[in-house]
Amino acid sequence: MTGAESGQVPKRMPQTVAEPPPRPDAPKRFIDHEQVVEYFKGVGRDGLAHAYIFYGPRGVGKKTFARALAFSLLCEDAESFPVGYCGECGACKRGIAGSSGDIIIVDEEFVHAADAFAGKPERKTSDIGIEASRRIIQLMSLKSYEGSSRLIAILPDFDNVTSDATYNALLKELEEPNPGKLFLITTEHLDSIIETIRSRAVLVRFDPMPDATIERELVNEYKVPKARATEIARRAQGSLGEAILELDEESAELRRSAREWLLACLRAPGKLPPMPEFDKDERENARAELDEVLRQARLTARDVLVSALGNNKVLLDPTGAAEYRKTVEALGAAAADKAANAIDAINEAERMSNTNIAPATTFGWLQVQLRSL
Ligand SMILES: [Zn+2]
Repeated sequence: MTGAESGQVPKRMPQTVAEPPPRPDAPKRFIDHEQVVEYFKGVGRDGLAHAYIFYGPRGVGKKTFARALAFSLLCEDAESFPVGYCGECGACKRGIAGSSGDIIIVDEEFVHAADAFAGKPERKTSDIGIEASRRIIQLMSLKSYEGSSRLIAILPDFDNVTSDATYNALLKELEEPNPGKLFLITTEHLDSIIETIRSRAVLVRFDPMPDATIERELVNEYKVPKARATEIARRAQGSLGEAILELDEESAELRRSAREWLLACLRAPGKLPPMPEFDKDERENARAELDEVLRQARLTARDVLVSALGNNKVLLDPTGAAEYRKTVEALGAAAADKAANAIDAINEAERMSNTNIAPATTFGWLQVQLRSL
């Protein structure tokens, strides 16, 4: 903090800003990950490399950190670095509203806009194609709009990138580091990013968050009653993002049907199981919904395995104990093996879901596997 600012009341990172209205993907509060924060404090805003890959499980704050770091770099009145942006100055407001000229977030919206910009017809998928790659390079070669010394590109969920054109375009940028450009890449699977890109970026690991931290955040920021927060935090397995998702009533139905579907596949493989209700209108959502179905299926299969091993104390969802027991009885002596095989199949489906295989194909494949364990 400079002398001129020292008389001010310290500001906290904002959750939302009144104006302009926050988008549905408005930045969340960044919490935990002291090691990452300390690391960047040590590096300082002037010592930043030109590219970082933030890797670690889903929902632990990689994207939230990338945005907070970007906002803090552009903020006109940042209290601290790397996450002390004020949330109130013009640069922060534009950043939060997604209208900053200096921060490019390569999300679905960006990809579709880039297609439209290039005169391409709208696609059902939103993987980063050549049009989006060109657009990134074009935008990153412009002069800073906010008058800052840096243009920042955030490339979230880089696991989904499968096109060589995208890799080549990005590689060219990373091979010629420019102090005026900063690339922030996030991924759940570091090994899915080709070595030539990995080796040109600084890798920063994000660990699962402690249950107690998730529980505290749910109670304090989301007003969840303590007992329910404890339960959700346990199921979230280190992911605040998953915990927050559980609060969403709309997706609760999908999770419930995913659990029933998994149990039905295991218990009565001869019968066609009730299918989870996927959103048929919004193809864009299909992949996100499949991920949620797979996650719930994995948690359920894991609880069936735990139940088969007779260790009900460590169930992730103790309310399902009776259902798990019924399933174990139906599976007979090989229950533990079959549950373990189910987990393997679900893991493989999760891997497939990170490629450009259609969500319906992945789901269909998994259903066949689960019914023939
Ligand atoms: Zn600011």
